[in-house]
Amino acid sequence: HKAELAKLVDKPTVTEDGCRVELVANIGTPEDVEGVLQNGGEGVGLYRTEFLYMGRDQLPTEEEQFAAYKKVLERMEGKPVVVRTLDIGGDKKLPYLTLPEEMNPFLGFRAIRLCLEMQDMFRTQLRALLRASAYGNLKIMFPMIATLEEFRQAKAILLEEKEKLQQEGAAVSSNVEVGMMVEIPSSAVMADTFAKEVDFFSIGTNDLIQYTLAADRMNERVSYLYQPYNPAILRLIKTVIDAAHKEGKWAGMCGEMAGTEGAIPILLGLGLDEFSMSASSILPARSIISRLSKKELSESIEQVLYMDTAEEVENFVKTRFL
Ligand code: PEP
Ligand code: MG
Repeated sequence: HKAELAKLVDKPTVTEDGCRVELVANIGTPEDVEGVLQNGGEGVGLYRTEFLYMGRDQLPTEEEQFAAYKKVLERMEGKPVVVRTLDIGGDKKLPYLTLPEEMNPFLGFRAIRLCLEMQDMFRTQLRALLRASAYGNLKIMFPMIATLEEFRQAKAILLEEKEKLQQEGAAVSSNVEVGMMVEIPSSAVMADTFAKEVDFFSIGTNDLIQYTLAADRMNERVSYLYQPYNPAILRLIKTVIDAAHKEGKWAGMCGEMAGTEGAIPILLGLGLDEFSMSASSILPARSIISRLSKKELSESIEQVLYMDTAEEVENFVKTRFL
């Protein structure tokens, strides 16, 4: 079986009926890129930049960040690289950045909320990213966007830094797409509005599931409620994909769900354009996709949206498509 999968390393990801989708990887450090290439990843769909900031005693400088981003972009040789701006807070803490204890850290001061307030830190990251954009195919996305104002504000700051760099004579790519993660239900519900202003969406199901079912993703006691196949989640995903396509934008997914065997037929049928997962899941996913017909799926998958329970959805997919 392993040898069969290895044959798919240099192959594009195509369904049985000839439709292309993009299979890309989630990474945490520049070193992870090797695993992406070895497993035939067509790009990076989520570079979690938190690790650059963790395990040290002060903020990373613009130069340190520039070096890391440039390394990833160069090594990917023009393949798309989606970098997520700092998503700290919640479960991830920094020793040199003391923040008040919060009653509900997952609903608190984190990610884009923190970056919009600690703007020096945010601007440093954006400058490093923009400078690195000259070395490959960079796309930037903002985490934990809950309102349109947040997206507008983050994008405005990005454009300010871009202008400054250009005035300083730095090389900056003119094709950097700017998108957002959809991991808060409000932004999934409002996807039609967001779609007019973003270049792309990447659905973060790890958080979207916990917020939609109000079930802490770290709490074992409520893990039975953490349901990727719950029709509520599937309807939100469909809303996001349809909203993107209506505006001619693309929709990807970088939560764990994107690399899950049972979820792939559903996501393919709903029209997801890009699947981002751990490098080790790429070849198995490519193999699954090669045996599925997009036409057949898109004609029959919508019924999962109207099923009663997550269990019913999961059983249906497994017996029908896998
Ligand atoms: C997500 O929420 O789905 C996601 C990809 O982000 P993280 O797991 O880093 O919160
Ligand atoms: Mg998240």
